[in-house]
Amino acid sequence: MHVAMIGTGYVGLVSGACFADFGHTVTCIDKDADKIARLQAGGVPIFEPGLETLVAQNVKAGRLFFSTEASEAVRGADAVFIAVGTPSRRGDGHADLSYVYAAAEEVAGLVEGFTLVVTKSTVPVGTGDEIEAIFNRVRPDADVAVVSNPEFLREGAAIEDFKRPDRVVVGVTDDRAREVMRELYRPLYLNETPIIFTGRRTSELIKYAANAFLAMKITYINEIADLCEAVGADVQQVARGIGLDNRIGGKFLNAGPGYGGSCFPKDTLALVRTARDAGAPMELIETTVKVNDARKKAMAEKVGRAVEAELAGLTVGVLGLTFKPNTDDMRDAPSLDIVPALQARGAKVQAFDPEGTHEARQLLRDVVFKSDPYDAAEGADILVIITEWDQFRALDLDRIKLLMNRPVMVDLRNIYKPDDMRARGFTYTSVGRA
Ligand code: NAD
Repeated sequence: MHVAMIGTGYVGLVSGACFADFGHTVTCIDKDADKIARLQAGGVPIFEPGLETLVAQNVKAGRLFFSTEASEAVRGADAVFIAVGTPSRRGDGHADLSYVYAAAEEVAGLVEGFTLVVTKSTVPVGTGDEIEAIFNRVRPDADVAVVSNPEFLREGAAIEDFKRPDRVVVGVTDDRAREVMRELYRPLYLNETPIIFTGRRTSELIKYAANAFLAMKITYINEIADLCEAVGADVQQVARGIGLDNRIGGKFLNAGPGYGGSCFPKDTLALVRTARDAGAPMELIETTVKVNDARKKAMAEKVGRAVEAELAGLTVGVLGLTFKPNTDDMRDAPSLDIVPALQARGAKVQAFDPEGTHEARQLLRDVVFKSDPYDAAEGADILVIITEWDQFRALDLDRIKLLMNRPVMVDLRNIYKPDDMRARGFTYTSVGRA
């Protein structure tokens, strides 16, 4: 099959490379000429484990192409995927669909023959209907089927998630389109991956319902963590104790500084807006958003409590800035709330992140960026772990202790054990553990 992928970001590039790896011929298109030039030169513009190799192999095999020009690829495509961004619209939290609609307009002017137009972007219920209306207006003669195929990959494990997903959701009513989608995902069919065919609106809603549920689950364990601290219980044991119950499940029960990232914050807000507009408000999700926002800001106070002193004049070393490990993505990372809140209390911040520094430099002010974790600890009064990169799990703690002004660690990801840390002479604070 021939695929045109409009938008070559985290989702478009991973999906495009994986479809090419399934044997299809894929052209990834992006307006960002620098990004495309870099890909054409054999580079990869984002950090995602395994992606560089996958891209290189499929380029070499003659199945994966990159272009700033949509025309040729769209004309020859069996399916055009829209994988552009849907950020929060300033002010009201609605998903900003301007990129999606602009892409749809452009594609409408180009399609030839029976073509699927598939939204991979996360879009609110009814967006597929709007895209259909755009095609009816711009190209009433076009033979297209508008399909919803939300993406559930996680950054940091994106290729594995795309190739071995828990399920694939396809919102489609047209029989011909269903066959094309089956063909595109044929290798997953052979693996017996559940492929769920639904109506388009249902499919659009499934994506938001999934993300909002996960955001709520994280927020729930975070509140349990606060309660654990207040009553002298251990949140990790609580999480294990409830997570072994199959009805609850053990994933997404890691207490921490609050969820962030490129999806949960904007998708929870968008669902809240959709629900309000539809006259069916979702108070659980509204509360989740509120609790999570407050939590990220409150983390600076937690750091202050660890030294039982004002933060003014102290140096805080920060380990990890990206919203999760194994990505360079800084969108809505908790560090973007925590670091400014520490600075507002007068702390000086020096930080290290394995992959996120380039992005972080554009988003954080007055931070001294260091080149390894030991540099970030040197001369610090407090060391704060914000992101649980694997390399922070096995630090030379004796060396860290010698380098620091005083051995105070605030571990917002619970990667160390309180007893061990105390035995090593650290004043150690974590989340939800005595
Ligand atoms: P991104 O910002 O990394 O990439 C979007 C790309 O689209 C950019 O490179 C941009 O230049 C390009 N673009 C915008 N308009 C264009 C146009 N008209 N023509 C060509 N290119 C255009 O975004 P992302 O993280 O890949 O997310 C894309 C969508 O997928 C969003 O709706 C997001 O919610 C959803 N999603 C993201 C993830 C994730 O982990 N990042 C997971 C699942 C779903």
